Amino acid sequence: MTKSKLAGNTGTPAIVWFRNDLRLADNAALRAACSAGDSVVCAFILDEEAAGDWARGGASRWWLHESLRELGRSLEAKGNRLVLRSGPARRELARLAQETGAGFIHCTRRYEPWAIRQERDCRAELEKSGVALKRYGGALLVEPENIATKSGDPYKVYTPFWRALSESYRASRPDSAPGNIPAPSPFPKSDALADWSLQPKKPDWAQAFPEHWTPGEAGALERLGTFLDEAADGYTADRNRPDLVGTSRLSPHLAHGEISPSLIWYRVKSAMGERSSRSDGLQTFLKELVWREFSYHLLFHFPHFPQQPFREEFASFPWHEDAEALKAWQRGMTGYPIVDAGLRELWTTGWMHNRVRMIVASFLIKDLMIPWQEGERWFWDTLVDADLANNAAGWQWVAGSGADAAPYFRIFNPVTQGEKFDPDGAYVRRWVPEIANLPDKFIHRPFDADDGTLSQAGIRLGDAYPAPIVDHAVARKAALQAYEDMKR
Ligand code: FAD
Repeated sequence: MTKSKLAGNTGTPAIVWFRNDLRLADNAALRAACSAGDSVVCAFILDEEAAGDWARGGASRWWLHESLRELGRSLEAKGNRLVLRSGPARRELARLAQETGAGFIHCTRRYEPWAIRQERDCRAELEKSGVALKRYGGALLVEPENIATKSGDPYKVYTPFWRALSESYRASRPDSAPGNIPAPSPFPKSDALADWSLQPKKPDWAQAFPEHWTPGEAGALERLGTFLDEAADGYTADRNRPDLVGTSRLSPHLAHGEISPSLIWYRVKSAMGERSSRSDGLQTFLKELVWREFSYHLLFHFPHFPQQPFREEFASFPWHEDAEALKAWQRGMTGYPIVDAGLRELWTTGWMHNRVRMIVASFLIKDLMIPWQEGERWFWDTLVDADLANNAAGWQWVAGSGADAAPYFRIFNPVTQGEKFDPDGAYVRRWVPEIANLPDKFIHRPFDADDGTLSQAGIRLGDAYPAPIVDHAVARKAALQAYEDMKR
């Protein structure tokens, strides 16, 4: 092995390659690097090529910028620094190993098909110079190979998956951040974060994101604490209400690995021990966390899942190509208030409530009969929690083409869904202010209001707020007919 050119008096360093694990606590790769090396080179590589079609979308890039800045600050507080490099990971890791003399690179495992290829390529490249790539779990509670049905197959149904996982998984107390992360001397060269242009150029469509989010590990831990203190007990009922803060909003933190699922599990189980009589909300929350595990299980075992319907018969579904309708949907101008509210919430905050994700997805797929992949793409670009496994699973679930999906004929009615889950219209009024003055009775159905009511509320449909772009009852029949045709 080459002797370190930079080592100074610190001896051989180990490299920790940060990927989607932008945290110091409960990070096995970082911990291993700290024990293995005399010093630790902490590196993040912006490899835009490797992900191909699934390169980060705009909202994720914004989050990544903020999260890397936070990670850099946390490392500085430990006397270290984050080294930023861009280009193919295999090339940059080999260079870093060569520059520093490191013989081991430690990283957290990822499960996206492109990331699996990336890891394989890195390993092959590094082996040429005798450098070993060591990987660790931590992004999931259970590795996808370590959970299988009795016949040894991957799970395709959620409930037995949940049962198997929850009966066997035991979270141990998560590691706290290492007290000291010894720095290499000198530090390897680093790109400047600002030069990566991860944040939007003018116009800055992400300008409101900072009002809603605190990216980084500290923000994630604070979010978990607030959820456990304020919302967890009522989670079972409130999680379906977009007008309330009834869920954790941990998804972007999980998507960037700022918090580990095992730490969440451990903290939830501890809270359950403390408040046994009120643990129903916490149990429901763990079930939702396991939907994430299930999505990864599917992605790992069925890697075409993000592009192709899981149930093959859906490949021949007679979709419509309708650019105008797609644009109206993306802009939140469909004339159905709950749909429009959701898409505007997404655009402004980078996040949308789960119930509303289901409603807007059903509207795109079934009312407009636009392929689910178009919605998946839009979410990919606009969600701060864009996650290949969860996004694909969510869209295929609504489309009826996924594993353990909602049946196709379950078509969400955007009016009754709105009335049920946003009963006073507070959510719609917040995101669709043009119709805020409508009485509650019409807030989810402005098209049913008479002219007098509309003019009293200061609205002319088709003017500031659109008339519905489709008639739901008619669209529903057409969608069911298309499904029958597909089956035939
Ligand atoms: P909470 O209710 O507090 O749940 C806690 C955590 O459990 C979440 O952060 C998430 O990691 C996991 N979780 C909760 N619900 C689900 C679910 N249905 N499927 C998988 N994991 C779940 N989630 C993403 O993280 N990224 C995506 O790109 C994504 N795309 C989606 C697309 C569609 C069409 C649909 C219907 C759902 C999608 N979801 C996605 C799942 C879900 O909507 C979000 O995880 C959830 O709304 C995040 O909010 P929260 O953190 O407050 O969730």
